[in-house]
Amino acid sequence: MQSGDTWSIEEIITLPRQSKSEIKKETEMFKENFSLILDNSRLIMNTPRYYYSYLESFIVGLVYLGGHKASIGSLLQLWEKGIFMDECRHCGGSLYLFSGKGSPLSGSNSCAGICNECREISHKNLPDVKQIMNAYKHVKDSINARLILRTKGQTFSFKSGLVGSPVPDRIIRQGISPATMTELINEIRMLER
Ligand SMILES: [Zn+2]
Repeated sequence: MQSGDTWSIEEIITLPRQSKSEIKKETEMFKENFSLILDNSRLIMNTPRYYYSYLESFIVGLVYLGGHKASIGSLLQLWEKGIFMDECRHCGGSLYLFSGKGSPLSGSNSCAGICNECREISHKNLPDVKQIMNAYKHVKDSINARLILRTKGQTFSFKSGLVGSPVPDRIIRQGISPATMTELINEIRMLER
């Protein structure tokens, strides 16, 4: 968005980058506690700090449009409506998809999800890309971004050089600092006690 010399910038809020072993550890924790997460879906969806939590592997993307991190809250909202789900190939249970990428043109795709019965993570190709497109739209609409207003305070000309003084960015919307998945699970466990 731009009007005159002022424009707004969306800065996506992310969790600190993790090492491979940290990612592995947190994924294991997520697998072990997936039922706990489903049981507490209301709490997670209604608590912004939890809503915007995610694992590195939670990504939904479409060819040409790019990919977005999918928050656990946005995934729970999809699953609640039966969207972005499939069948586990190990046990036939419900597979809750958390990542997917596909091409709307060719329909080729690949997804990954977790089964609530056997808790295995498995990869799948869906018969069509529609579920991924629906998930993409929802995930994109629920991005956690800081909104910044930037004003052009300085101009440059060869005649007079740099004119005016810089105007500091103004934060219009702060965005949410999300809990890590480990924090989310630990805190919910404490509440359940
Ligand atoms: Zn299964």
